[in-house]
Amino acid sequence: MKIAILPGDGIGPEIIAQAVKVLNALEEPFEMETAAVGGAGYAAYGHPLPEVTLNLTKKADAILFGAVGDWQYDTLERSLRPEQAILGLRKNLNLFANLRPAILYPELAGASSLKPEIVSGLDILIIRELTGDIYFGQPRGVRIAADGTYIGEREGFDTMRYSEPEIRRIAHVAFQAAQKRCKRLTSVDKANVLETSQFWRDIVRQVHLEYPEVGLEHMYVDNAAMQLIKAPKEFDVIVTGNMFGDILSDEAAMLTGSIGMLPSASLDVNNKGLYEPSHGSAPDIAGKGLANPLATILSAAMMLRFSLAKPLQADRIENAVKKVLSQGLRTPDIYANGTKKVGTVEMGNAVVSALST
Ligand code: NAD
Repeated sequence: MKIAILPGDGIGPEIIAQAVKVLNALEEPFEMETAAVGGAGYAAYGHPLPEVTLNLTKKADAILFGAVGDWQYDTLERSLRPEQAILGLRKNLNLFANLRPAILYPELAGASSLKPEIVSGLDILIIRELTGDIYFGQPRGVRIAADGTYIGEREGFDTMRYSEPEIRRIAHVAFQAAQKRCKRLTSVDKANVLETSQFWRDIVRQVHLEYPEVGLEHMYVDNAAMQLIKAPKEFDVIVTGNMFGDILSDEAAMLTGSIGMLPSASLDVNNKGLYEPSHGSAPDIAGKGLANPLATILSAAMMLRFSLAKPLQADRIENAVKKVLSQGLRTPDIYANGTKKVGTVEMGNAVVSALST
Protein backbone atom coordinates (compact mmCIF):
# COMPACT_ATOMS: atom_id res chain seq x y z
CA MET A 1 0.00 0.00 0.00
CA LYS A 2 1.45 3.27 -1.14
CA ILE A 3 0.79 6.48 0.76
CA ALA A 4 1.74 9.87 -0.67
CA ILE A 5 2.80 12.19 2.14
CA LEU A 6 2.35 15.90 1.37
CA PRO A 7 3.39 17.99 4.42
CA GLY A 8 2.90 21.44 2.77
CA ASP A 9 3.48 24.70 4.62
CA GLY A 10 3.32 26.30 8.07
CA ILE A 11 2.58 23.71 10.72
CA GLY A 12 2.06 21.08 7.98
CA PRO A 13 5.49 19.41 8.30
CA GLU A 14 5.29 19.35 12.14
CA ILE A 15 1.88 17.70 12.35
CA ILE A 16 2.51 15.31 9.46
CA ALA A 17 5.69 14.10 11.19
CA GLN A 18 3.57 13.04 14.18
CA ALA A 19 1.04 11.20 12.00
CA VAL A 20 3.83 9.40 10.11
CA LYS A 21 5.35 8.37 13.44
CA VAL A 22 2.01 6.89 14.50
CA LEU A 23 1.60 5.07 11.16
CA ASN A 24 5.14 3.64 11.46
CA ALA A 25 4.34 2.40 14.97
CA LEU A 26 1.55 0.21 13.56
CA GLU A 27 4.23 -1.92 11.85
CA GLU A 28 2.20 -2.36 8.68
CA PRO A 29 3.98 -2.66 5.30
CA PHE A 30 3.09 0.86 4.14
CA GLU A 31 5.27 2.44 1.49
CA MET A 32 5.38 6.18 2.20
CA GLU A 33 6.81 8.75 -0.19
CA THR A 34 6.96 12.48 0.52
CA ALA A 35 6.52 15.33 -1.98
CA ALA A 36 6.36 19.13 -1.88
CA VAL A 37 3.02 20.93 -2.20
CA GLY A 38 1.64 24.45 -1.72
CA GLY A 39 4.19 27.15 -0.95
CA ALA A 40 6.83 24.44 -0.55
CA GLY A 41 5.95 23.19 -4.06
CA TYR A 42 6.26 26.71 -5.44
CA ALA A 43 9.62 27.23 -3.71
CA ALA A 44 11.02 23.95 -5.04
CA TYR A 45 9.46 23.76 -8.53
CA GLY A 46 7.73 27.07 -9.26
CA HIS A 47 4.22 25.62 -8.92
CA PRO A 48 2.00 24.84 -5.88
CA LEU A 49 1.11 21.45 -7.36
CA PRO A 50 4.29 20.33 -9.12
CA GLU A 51 3.97 17.59 -11.73
CA VAL A 52 6.16 15.24 -9.69
CA THR A 53 3.76 15.65 -6.74
CA LEU A 54 0.63 15.16 -8.84
CA ASN A 55 2.13 12.01 -10.42
CA LEU A 56 2.93 10.59 -6.98
CA THR A 57 -0.64 11.18 -5.81
CA LYS A 58 -2.00 9.46 -8.92
CA LYS A 59 0.08 6.34 -8.23
CA ALA A 60 -0.70 6.26 -4.50
CA ASP A 61 -3.58 4.40 -2.82
CA ALA A 62 -4.10 7.30 -0.43
CA ILE A 63 -2.73 10.76 0.29
CA LEU A 64 -1.96 12.21 3.70
CA PHE A 65 -1.91 16.00 3.44
CA GLY A 66 -0.78 18.54 6.05
CA ALA A 67 -1.86 22.07 5.12
CA VAL A 68 -0.88 24.76 2.63
CA GLY A 69 -0.67 28.53 2.75
CA ASP A 70 1.86 31.08 3.85
CA TRP A 71 1.65 34.86 3.99
CA GLN A 72 4.85 35.22 1.93
CA TYR A 73 2.99 33.79 -1.10
CA ASP A 74 -0.11 36.03 -0.81
CA THR A 75 1.15 38.44 -3.47
CA LEU A 76 1.58 35.74 -6.14
CA GLU A 77 -0.96 35.62 -8.96
CA ARG A 78 -3.96 33.46 -7.98
CA SER A 79 -2.99 30.39 -10.05
CA LEU A 80 0.36 30.13 -8.24
CA ARG A 81 -0.88 30.59 -4.67
CA PRO A 82 -0.43 27.60 -2.33
CA GLU A 83 -4.19 27.04 -1.87
CA GLN A 84 -4.53 26.25 -5.59
CA ALA A 85 -2.83 22.91 -4.87
CA ILE A 86 -5.91 21.71 -2.99
CA LEU A 87 -8.30 22.64 -5.80
CA GLY A 88 -5.92 21.03 -8.32
CA LEU A 89 -5.75 17.77 -6.37
CA ARG A 90 -9.54 17.64 -5.96
CA LYS A 91 -10.08 18.19 -9.69
CA ASN A 92 -7.29 15.92 -10.96
CA LEU A 93 -8.12 13.02 -8.64
CA ASN A 94 -11.87 13.58 -8.89
CA LEU A 95 -12.26 13.78 -5.12
CA PHE A 96 -15.92 14.70 -5.07
CA ALA A 97 -16.98 13.63 -1.58
CA ASN A 98 -15.69 15.48 1.47
CA LEU A 99 -16.37 13.76 4.78
CA ARG A 100 -15.93 15.84 7.90
CA PRO A 101 -16.82 14.31 11.23
CA ALA A 102 -17.45 16.76 14.05
CA ILE A 103 -16.96 14.81 17.24
CA LEU A 104 -16.76 16.32 20.70
CA TYR A 105 -14.85 14.09 23.10
CA PRO A 106 -16.48 14.39 26.54
CA GLU A 107 -13.09 15.44 28.02
CA LEU A 108 -13.12 18.53 25.76
CA ALA A 109 -16.74 19.61 26.34
CA GLY A 110 -15.46 22.71 28.16
CA ALA A 111 -13.52 23.85 25.05
CA SER A 112 -16.71 24.54 23.09
CA SER A 113 -18.24 28.00 23.25
CA LEU A 114 -21.64 26.33 23.65
CA LYS A 115 -22.95 24.90 26.93
CA PRO A 116 -21.50 21.42 27.64
CA GLU A 117 -24.99 19.85 27.82
CA ILE A 118 -25.72 21.02 24.27
CA VAL A 119 -22.50 19.65 22.73
CA SER A 120 -21.06 16.92 24.96
CA GLY A 121 -21.00 13.64 23.04
CA LEU A 122 -21.69 15.39 19.73
CA ASP A 123 -21.05 13.10 16.74
CA ILE A 124 -22.06 14.53 13.35
CA LEU A 125 -20.78 13.64 9.90
CA ILE A 126 -20.97 16.39 7.29
CA ILE A 127 -20.72 15.24 3.68
CA ARG A 128 -19.96 18.08 1.32
CA GLU A 129 -19.93 17.81 -2.48
CA LEU A 130 -16.53 19.07 -3.47
CA THR A 131 -16.09 19.41 -7.22
CA GLY A 132 -19.20 21.23 -8.45
CA ASP A 133 -21.53 24.09 -7.53
CA ILE A 134 -20.88 27.81 -7.78
CA TYR A 135 -17.17 27.30 -6.96
CA PHE A 136 -16.55 25.69 -10.35
CA GLY A 137 -19.57 26.69 -12.49
CA GLN A 138 -18.94 28.55 -15.75
CA PRO A 139 -19.39 31.25 -16.91
CA ARG A 140 -17.95 33.49 -14.24
CA GLY A 141 -16.11 36.75 -14.18
CA VAL A 142 -16.55 40.50 -14.27
CA ARG A 143 -18.39 42.11 -17.20
CA ILE A 144 -20.45 45.11 -18.26
CA ALA A 145 -24.09 44.44 -17.38
CA ALA A 146 -26.26 44.03 -20.48
CA ASP A 147 -29.57 43.80 -18.61
CA GLY A 148 -31.15 44.42 -15.21
CA THR A 149 -31.22 47.70 -13.28
CA TYR A 150 -27.56 48.60 -13.80
CA ILE A 151 -27.08 48.27 -17.57
CA GLY A 152 -23.65 49.53 -18.62
CA GLU A 153 -22.15 49.19 -15.13
CA ARG A 154 -19.52 46.59 -14.17
CA GLU A 155 -20.84 43.47 -12.42
CA GLY A 156 -19.32 40.29 -10.97
CA PHE A 157 -21.06 36.98 -11.66
CA ASP A 158 -20.72 33.24 -10.95
CA THR A 159 -22.79 30.25 -11.99
CA MET A 160 -24.36 27.77 -9.60
CA ARG A 161 -24.95 24.45 -11.32
CA TYR A 162 -25.25 20.76 -10.43
CA SER A 163 -25.74 17.92 -12.90
CA GLU A 164 -27.87 14.90 -12.06
CA PRO A 165 -24.90 12.42 -11.93
CA GLU A 166 -23.05 14.73 -9.53
CA ILE A 167 -26.02 14.88 -7.16
CA ARG A 168 -26.70 11.14 -7.42
CA ARG A 169 -23.17 10.06 -6.55
CA ILE A 170 -22.87 12.31 -3.49
CA ALA A 171 -26.35 11.25 -2.37
CA HIS A 172 -25.28 7.58 -2.56
CA VAL A 173 -22.18 8.31 -0.46
CA ALA A 174 -24.38 10.06 2.11
CA PHE A 175 -27.08 7.38 2.31
CA GLN A 176 -24.42 4.68 2.62
CA ALA A 177 -22.66 6.57 5.40
CA ALA A 178 -25.99 7.08 7.20
CA GLN A 179 -26.70 3.34 6.87
CA LYS A 180 -23.53 2.65 8.90
CA ARG A 181 -24.46 5.20 11.58
CA CYS A 182 -27.83 6.18 13.09
CA LYS A 183 -29.68 5.99 9.74
CA ARG A 184 -30.70 9.65 9.69
CA LEU A 185 -29.78 11.92 6.79
CA THR A 186 -30.44 15.65 6.50
CA SER A 187 -30.07 17.11 3.01
CA VAL A 188 -29.38 20.84 3.17
CA ASP A 189 -30.28 23.20 0.32
CA LYS A 190 -31.99 26.50 -0.46
CA ALA A 191 -34.85 25.09 -2.53
CA ASN A 192 -37.16 27.97 -1.64
CA VAL A 193 -34.99 30.33 -3.69
CA LEU A 194 -32.64 28.41 -5.99
CA GLU A 195 -33.55 26.23 -9.01
CA THR A 196 -30.33 24.25 -8.53
CA SER A 197 -31.40 23.44 -4.97
CA GLN A 198 -34.90 22.32 -6.01
CA PHE A 199 -33.27 19.98 -8.55
CA TRP A 200 -30.85 18.74 -5.84
CA ARG A 201 -33.82 18.01 -3.56
CA ASP A 202 -35.70 16.10 -6.29
CA ILE A 203 -32.71 13.88 -7.09
CA VAL A 204 -31.93 13.19 -3.42
CA ARG A 205 -35.57 12.11 -3.00
CA GLN A 206 -35.21 9.69 -5.92
CA VAL A 207 -31.97 8.18 -4.55
CA HIS A 208 -33.69 7.79 -1.18
CA LEU A 209 -35.99 5.16 -2.75
CA GLU A 210 -32.93 2.83 -2.81
CA TYR A 211 -32.32 3.34 0.93
CA PRO A 212 -35.75 3.00 2.57
CA GLU A 213 -34.22 2.17 5.97
CA VAL A 214 -32.59 5.62 6.18
CA GLY A 215 -34.77 8.51 7.40
CA LEU A 216 -34.42 11.57 5.14
CA GLU A 217 -35.29 15.16 5.93
CA HIS A 218 -34.67 18.29 3.89
CA MET A 219 -33.62 21.53 5.53
CA TYR A 220 -32.95 25.02 4.20
CA VAL A 221 -29.37 26.12 4.76
CA ASP A 222 -30.29 29.13 6.90
CA ASN A 223 -32.30 26.90 9.23
CA ALA A 224 -29.50 24.29 9.28
CA ALA A 225 -27.03 26.99 10.38
CA MET A 226 -29.41 27.84 13.25
CA GLN A 227 -30.14 24.25 14.26
CA LEU A 228 -26.41 23.43 14.38
CA ILE A 229 -26.09 25.97 17.18
CA LYS A 230 -29.44 25.31 18.85
CA ALA A 231 -29.58 21.50 18.92
CA PRO A 232 -26.56 20.04 17.13
CA LYS A 233 -27.02 16.55 18.58
CA GLU A 234 -30.27 16.23 16.57
CA PHE A 235 -28.13 15.68 13.44
CA ASP A 236 -26.54 12.41 12.37
CA VAL A 237 -25.36 12.77 8.74
CA ILE A 238 -25.71 16.01 6.75
CA VAL A 239 -25.26 16.09 2.96
CA THR A 240 -25.01 19.34 1.06
CA GLY A 241 -23.45 21.12 -1.91
CA ASN A 242 -20.01 22.66 -2.12
CA MET A 243 -20.70 26.21 -0.91
CA PHE A 244 -23.21 25.42 1.84
CA GLY A 245 -20.96 22.55 2.99
CA ASP A 246 -17.94 24.83 3.12
CA ILE A 247 -19.71 27.11 5.58
CA LEU A 248 -21.63 24.55 7.64
CA SER A 249 -18.64 22.25 8.12
CA ASP A 250 -16.61 25.12 9.61
CA GLU A 251 -19.54 26.01 11.86
CA ALA A 252 -19.79 22.38 13.01
CA ALA A 253 -16.03 22.32 13.57
CA MET A 254 -16.28 25.21 16.00
CA LEU A 255 -18.98 23.42 18.01
CA THR A 256 -16.19 21.15 19.14
CA GLY A 257 -14.03 23.98 20.44
CA SER A 258 -10.83 23.37 18.54
CA ILE A 259 -10.25 22.97 14.87
CA GLY A 260 -7.03 21.19 15.87
CA MET A 261 -9.04 18.04 16.64
CA LEU A 262 -10.95 17.53 13.39
CA PRO A 263 -9.92 15.19 10.57
CA SER A 264 -11.36 15.06 7.06
CA ALA A 265 -11.43 12.81 4.02
CA SER A 266 -12.00 13.62 0.36
CA LEU A 267 -12.89 10.52 -1.66
CA ASP A 268 -13.28 9.48 -5.28
CA VAL A 269 -15.73 6.85 -6.56
CA ASN A 270 -13.32 4.02 -5.63
CA ASN A 271 -12.68 5.30 -2.11
CA LYS A 272 -9.19 6.47 -2.94
CA GLY A 273 -8.83 9.54 -0.80
CA LEU A 274 -6.95 12.56 0.38
CA TYR A 275 -6.87 12.89 4.17
CA GLU A 276 -6.12 16.15 5.92
CA PRO A 277 -6.87 18.05 9.10
CA SER A 278 -9.77 20.51 8.76
CA HIS A 279 -7.59 23.45 9.73
CA GLY A 280 -5.11 25.45 7.67
CA SER A 281 -1.36 25.95 7.92
CA ALA A 282 -1.58 28.19 11.03
CA PRO A 283 1.45 30.36 10.10
CA ASP A 284 1.04 32.22 13.42
CA ILE A 285 2.25 29.19 15.38
CA ALA A 286 4.39 27.42 12.74
CA GLY A 287 7.78 26.17 13.92
CA LYS A 288 6.98 26.77 17.59
CA GLY A 289 6.05 23.20 18.51
CA LEU A 290 2.59 24.37 19.64
CA ALA A 291 0.36 22.83 16.95
CA ASN A 292 -2.13 20.16 17.86
CA PRO A 293 -1.27 17.09 15.76
CA LEU A 294 -4.42 15.13 16.69
CA ALA A 295 -6.54 16.19 13.68
CA THR A 296 -3.78 14.91 11.39
CA ILE A 297 -3.34 11.70 13.39
CA LEU A 298 -7.12 11.17 13.25
CA SER A 299 -7.00 11.85 9.49
CA ALA A 300 -4.50 8.99 9.22
CA ALA A 301 -7.02 6.80 11.07
CA MET A 302 -9.74 7.77 8.57
CA MET A 303 -7.31 6.86 5.77
CA LEU A 304 -6.83 3.40 7.25
CA ARG A 305 -10.59 2.92 7.47
CA PHE A 306 -11.79 4.34 4.13
CA SER A 307 -8.92 3.80 1.65
CA LEU A 308 -6.63 1.13 3.07
CA ALA A 309 -9.19 -1.34 4.48
CA LYS A 310 -7.53 -1.47 7.91
CA PRO A 311 -10.45 -0.66 10.23
CA LEU A 312 -8.87 -2.34 13.27
CA GLN A 313 -5.75 -0.20 12.95
CA ALA A 314 -8.01 2.86 12.58
CA ASP A 315 -9.75 1.88 15.83
CA ARG A 316 -6.35 1.50 17.52
CA ILE A 317 -5.36 5.05 16.63
CA GLU A 318 -8.72 6.54 17.63
CA ASN A 319 -8.62 4.70 20.96
CA ALA A 320 -5.05 5.90 21.55
CA VAL A 321 -6.19 9.50 20.98
CA LYS A 322 -9.05 9.04 23.47
CA LYS A 323 -6.54 7.61 25.93
CA VAL A 324 -4.13 10.56 25.77
CA LEU A 325 -7.06 12.94 26.26
CA SER A 326 -8.26 10.99 29.27
CA GLN A 327 -4.69 11.11 30.63
CA GLY A 328 -5.14 14.89 30.63
CA LEU A 329 -2.59 15.74 27.93
CA ARG A 330 -3.45 18.91 25.99
CA THR A 331 -1.78 21.09 23.38
CA PRO A 332 -2.29 24.84 24.07
CA ASP A 333 -5.37 25.12 21.80
CA ILE A 334 -7.34 22.69 24.00
CA TYR A 335 -5.65 23.42 27.32
CA ALA A 336 -7.78 23.97 30.42
CA ASN A 337 -6.91 24.30 34.11
CA GLY A 338 -6.09 20.97 35.70
CA THR A 339 -4.73 19.40 32.50
CA LYS A 340 -1.11 18.99 31.38
CA LYS A 341 0.12 21.26 28.59
CA VAL A 342 2.27 19.48 26.00
CA GLY A 343 3.80 20.38 22.65
CA THR A 344 3.33 18.87 19.19
CA VAL A 345 6.04 16.22 19.46
CA GLU A 346 5.16 15.22 23.02
CA MET A 347 1.54 14.74 21.98
CA GLY A 348 2.61 12.57 19.01
CA ASN A 349 4.85 10.48 21.28
CA ALA A 350 2.00 10.03 23.77
CA VAL A 351 -0.29 8.67 21.03
CA VAL A 352 2.43 6.22 19.94
CA SER A 353 2.83 5.04 23.56
CA ALA A 354 -0.93 4.70 23.97
CA LEU A 355 -1.11 2.43 20.90
CA SER A 356 0.67 -0.32 22.75
CA THR A 357 -1.21 -0.14 26.04
P1 NAD B 1 -5.89 28.24 10.13
O1 NAD B 1 -6.79 27.07 10.28
O2 NAD B 1 -4.54 27.97 9.59
O3 NAD B 1 -5.72 28.96 11.55
C1 NAD B 1 -6.81 29.53 12.27
C2 NAD B 1 -6.45 29.60 13.76
O4 NAD B 1 -6.45 28.27 14.30
C3 NAD B 1 -5.06 30.15 14.02
O5 NAD B 1 -5.08 30.89 15.22
C4 NAD B 1 -4.19 28.91 14.22
O6 NAD B 1 -3.08 29.11 15.06
C5 NAD B 1 -5.19 27.94 14.84
N1 NAD B 1 -4.89 26.54 14.49
C6 NAD B 1 -5.09 25.96 13.28
N2 NAD B 1 -4.67 24.69 13.32
C7 NAD B 1 -4.21 24.46 14.56
C8 NAD B 1 -3.64 23.33 15.21
N3 NAD B 1 -3.45 22.15 14.60
N4 NAD B 1 -3.27 23.45 16.50
C9 NAD B 1 -3.45 24.60 17.15
N5 NAD B 1 -3.99 25.71 16.61
C10 NAD B 1 -4.36 25.63 15.31
O7 NAD B 1 -6.66 29.31 9.22
P2 NAD B 1 -6.19 30.73 8.67
O8 NAD B 1 -5.37 31.43 9.69
O9 NAD B 1 -7.42 31.36 8.16
O10 NAD B 1 -5.29 30.38 7.41
C11 NAD B 1 -3.88 30.26 7.47
C12 NAD B 1 -3.39 29.75 6.12
O11 NAD B 1 -3.89 28.42 5.90
C13 NAD B 1 -3.87 30.58 4.93
O12 NAD B 1 -2.82 30.70 4.02
C14 NAD B 1 -5.02 29.77 4.38
O13 NAD B 1 -5.22 30.00 3.01
C15 NAD B 1 -4.52 28.38 4.62
N6 NAD B 1 -5.57 27.33 4.69
C16 NAD B 1 -5.23 26.12 4.20
C17 NAD B 1 -6.12 25.07 4.30
C18 NAD B 1 -5.68 23.72 3.80
O14 NAD B 1 -4.49 23.51 3.60
N7 NAD B 1 -6.58 22.77 3.61
C19 NAD B 1 -7.39 25.26 4.88
C20 NAD B 1 -7.69 26.52 5.41
C21 NAD B 1 -6.77 27.56 5.32
